[in-house]
Amino acid sequence: MPDKDQALWRDLLSTVRRSSPAVCRHWFSELKMSGIDGGVVEVVAPTKAQVDYLRRECNQVFNDAVVETSGKLLTVRFVTEPTVSSNGSASNGREGAIRSGKLKTSGAIDELTFSPDYTFDSFVVGPNNRLAHAAARAIVDSPGRAYNPLFIHGGVGLGKTHLLQAICSGIEHRMPGARLLYISCEGFITRFIECVQNGRMDDFRHQFRDVDLLVIDDVHFLAKRDRTQDEFFHTFNSLYQRQRQIVLSSDAPPDQIPDLEERLVSRFSWGMVAPITPPEYETRVQIVKNKALNRGDEVSDDVAGFIAARIDSNIRELEGALTRVQMLANVENSPVTIEIARQALGEGDTGRERAQITLEQVVDAVIEYYDISLSNLQSKKRARSIAFPRQVCMYLARKHTRYSLEEIGGYFGGRDHSTVLHAVRKITNDREGDESVDSAVRKLERELRLVAS
Ligand code: ADP
Ligand code: MG
Repeated sequence: MPDKDQALWRDLLSTVRRSSPAVCRHWFSELKMSGIDGGVVEVVAPTKAQVDYLRRECNQVFNDAVVETSGKLLTVRFVTEPTVSSNGSASNGREGAIRSGKLKTSGAIDELTFSPDYTFDSFVVGPNNRLAHAAARAIVDSPGRAYNPLFIHGGVGLGKTHLLQAICSGIEHRMPGARLLYISCEGFITRFIECVQNGRMDDFRHQFRDVDLLVIDDVHFLAKRDRTQDEFFHTFNSLYQRQRQIVLSSDAPPDQIPDLEERLVSRFSWGMVAPITPPEYETRVQIVKNKALNRGDEVSDDVAGFIAARIDSNIRELEGALTRVQMLANVENSPVTIEIARQALGEGDTGRERAQITLEQVVDAVIEYYDISLSNLQSKKRARSIAFPRQVCMYLARKHTRYSLEEIGGYFGGRDHSTVLHAVRKITNDREGDESVDSAVRKLERELRLVAS
């Protein structure tokens, strides 16, 4: 590569590292630039999973950075094999590192890409996930025989998808010819509906039954879809009888998924049901350190401990906190110190303070925010103007107090735990899909932290 291209590539990478530490990975050092062709800077990564990651998460960041560093209107393209030759120099693609046909579905399903971040190596084991982790490893060692199905359940952001994908990569690595299908439950449902409408059930059955490993993420979304549950039941039986491995995840144990047919509840419990709970402090510290390393950065025990003390439940939030700290350090052009962490995260919001939030405080905040009366909140009324604030209330109570689903249900007019679970799920979903819901909940959470501190 010409020297000026070398220099551009070096500057480009350091700009990316500075502007967006959260998307950077330690393996970025293995990326190569093969050349520039027609305004396109071609970047070669060793594996397809890495290219998928770069295309998904990093397009914008690299495009912005290349314009900034070159001062020209260039764009970046990520590939596993160089197509641009660099003045007769040796190929930059690493031979043999490319895994072809990584996900052997029969074509009609979009290949669901795995994240290169989600491996066993990067998974921190603690008391909260030890069982699930051990079971996942056992499955990679002897699929179809160790535990079938493996059913992993736990709250949002606790590592279910990470473990599921680690199983897939593990099996892919051990048994290169194995046919794997990893799909979200929504993907399963969509595919089913499509095939029913187009009269292509044979395709559907072929796709889901002729596999060695079927992994379905978030099966709680099966709830209430009778025909899909029926088809799922037959898919399950067909695979199970032939000792093909099935792995499922859900936000609740089988018997607590609302509206799940009894025969599925029972089958989901045949193998191993493994919970993942929120991680303890030590595990959180280790996770922060690992994530930082994976981003090509190192944080001291002190700083990792400081961040881990602040966020006590969801690991995705833990990563978000680390990102905020890294961003501030970059802006201030400072190493990642406790002082920076404190500035980035503020003083409040520790697990201790969270534990002190009471149900009454949650209810008061919601009553005030939505201008609704307590009796309405506790009533059986289903009008959206009442039901929605009630669901927000349940969501907040579940997230910020130590009350059980049953207790919260009881407080809201003697509802049962599945109603509360439904509310938690709904608001979690709404927050992701609807900016206004997310901002309302954020406001309420700020309010709660104030009254509890
Ligand atoms: P879930 O599917 O349960 O909602 P994810 O698997 O998406 O959660 O995990 C959320 C984030 O937390 C991911 O970035 C994942 O890598 C990280 N994570 C969760 N558990 C662990 C762990 N034990 N070690 C390292 N990272 C973890
Ligand atoms: Mg998930």
